[in-house]
Formats: sequence, structure tokens, C-alpha cells
Amino acid sequence: VFNFSAGPATLPESVLRQAADEMLDWRGSGMSVMEMSHRGKEFISIHAEAERRLRELLAVPKNYKVLFLQGGAIAENAIVPMNMLRGRESADYIDTGEWSKKSIKEAKKYGKVNVAASSEKDGYTSVPKQESWKLDPRAAYVHICSNETIGGVEYHWTPDTGDVPLVADMSSNFMSRPVDVSRYGLIYGGAQKNIGPAGVTVVIVRDDLIGQALPITPSAFDYKIQADNDSMFNTPPTYAIYIAGLVFNWIAQQGGLAAIEANNRRKAAVLYDHLETTSFFYNPVAREDRSLMNVPFKLRDESLDDAFLKGADARGMLQLKGHRSVGGMRASIYNAMPIEGVQALVAYMKEFEASHG
Ligand code: PLP
Repeated sequence: VFNFSAGPATLPESVLRQAADEMLDWRGSGMSVMEMSHRGKEFISIHAEAERRLRELLAVPKNYKVLFLQGGAIAENAIVPMNMLRGRESADYIDTGEWSKKSIKEAKKYGKVNVAASSEKDGYTSVPKQESWKLDPRAAYVHICSNETIGGVEYHWTPDTGDVPLVADMSSNFMSRPVDVSRYGLIYGGAQKNIGPAGVTVVIVRDDLIGQALPITPSAFDYKIQADNDSMFNTPPTYAIYIAGLVFNWIAQQGGLAAIEANNRRKAAVLYDHLETTSFFYNPVAREDRSLMNVPFKLRDESLDDAFLKGADARGMLQLKGHRSVGGMRASIYNAMPIEGVQALVAYMKEFEASHG
């Protein structure tokens, strides 16, 4: 079976097998990871190893904290402004689709939001060029969504925001390629695409941005309190952190993030190259902004959608239905999707076109 879900999404089979092997007895401890105290030496070692691996893979500079929190990226939409807006009049947001719209709406509860650029007028099929951004040099931060999971639009460049910290929701392309963390003030993302099960949110934040939370900020969402407590001010999502650690090891075994990126490029090319050759299916996104992770595509004749999905299911290609807000299809091809899955999908698209075109 090839699972094209946008998230929670497919995970590397070897990781799931290892988790299954260790399920009842983690390395002779006599306990499942789920049953361990987060303050015990076993879990503390799991947590420390996950953080070490993450830091190594992304080359996270020393002056950044890595936090493993809860609430998902949607909670971060509130937690970021709560922690970063204090003493500032406003924050800049770049609007590239459904997920940035949600971030903007939520941030407005905590302060003034300036939408510095938007691709709404082209139906969210591109990333606005930086020359068109109307940034405020006094803004608390500039927020982007580095990969719009629903629209299939991805930044393939890093914005230059000068002294204003760049904040990125990387939920759906985190750990899909190397990232120069030093160009960002803060990176956040939910785990359930590329790094594990839902439940853990990774936040990578520069030290000097910590410690200015608004007084209303819940303690569990105050970066300073969590940083001072090694992300254990409240009980962390222990099992999700454990699986994320196994996935980080798997990424290292694949050769690290550069190798992962090369593989992701090869996979995406199989699908986009095919979409270029047919008018039976189409993808509306500007070529230079197409996501390597989420590939939305539509049939010109939408009345065939159900038949296409039924045939895909019958061939073991699951969860290809597009997001309810845009319809059509979406193939999410995160790190753990093998190239054979994308090849099988393209073969099926050709077969379907031949019999229905
Ligand atoms: N941001 C992006 C880019 C996403 O793809 C998602 C998807 O689930 C979210 C935010 C929301 O994450 P969560 O539901 O884990 O809060």
C-alpha cells in the first residue's frame, strides 16, 4: 500500500518495525516507552538523544533552543504572537494560502497584524516575490508558511528580513531538506508529516527572542518557562518524541537532509514531469513555487474524480482525495514515501487517462 495522506502521514517502515519490536520492553527496561516517567533516566535519555540528532541533522546553532511542545502548529499560531509581540505594535505576515490565513486570523487576537504580501489575487498559486513585500522595519517578526500543505505552494528560497526575526510554520516541509536555521528567529511545526505521530510540536527559537511573553500567556506555552525546564514544565508527549527520535535516526541513515532533499526532488519530478505532459490532469501552481511535499492536481473533468479515487484505492494508493476546501486530488509525498509510490501513481494516472480520456 502507498499512503498519500497529507498528515498524519506515512512513516518509514523500519521505524514502525523498530517501535513494534520495542513496544512492550524498551531495551531491557521492562517498560514500554508509553509507560515511562518523563523524569526517569530512560525517557530523559530518549529525549536528549532526539534533540541531539535533530540539532546535528539541521546544524542548529548553539544560540537556539529546541523545544518539544504540545498543541500543534495551530496552537503555535497563538503561542508565537503571545511570546513575541510584547512591546511591539505589530507583526508582518505573508499570506500564501489556507495555513497562512489561519495564522493571520489567530495572531489578530493578540495584536496588530500587517499582511505585508499576499498571493490571494492569483488564487494562492504562487509565493509573492520579495520585492513586492511591504515590510515594516519595526515589526516584531515576519511570519511565513514555508509550505502550504493544501495549496501545494512552497518557498524554495529564504526571505531576507534584515534585523526583523523571520518566523516560519514549517509543519509540512520540516526535515525535508537542509535549512540555514541562523536565517530564522523561530521555526515551528507539528510532527505528523515528516517526523512522527501527531502530538509533538517542534519549536526552534533563538535565545534572545525568549523571555518576553505577554502576561496572559499560559505557563505551558511560555517559551522561557519551557526552555528553563527542558520542555518538561508539563508532561511532554513522550511517545511522539520517542518516534520522532527514531525518525531522526532514519534520516541520518539515509545520508542526512541533503540526501533526503535529493530524493524528494527526484520523487516530485516524476509527478510534475507527468503533469507537464498531459492536459487530462493539471496542477495550477507556478512552476518555481511548486511544493516537493504536497502535489495537488485536478482532473479537467471533475465528474471522474470519484472513479479515479476508487481505482486508486483498489490499487492500494490511499488518501489521495484533495483537501475539502479545494477538491480534486492531492498526493503528499513526504520523506517516507518511496519513489516506487510516485511511479505507481503516475502509471495509474496514465492508465486512467487511456481508459477515460
Ligand atoms: N500549518 C501547516 C502548514 C499544516 O500543514 C498544518 C496541518 O496539519 C497545520 C499548520 C496545523 O497543524 P495542527 O493540526 O497539528 O495544529
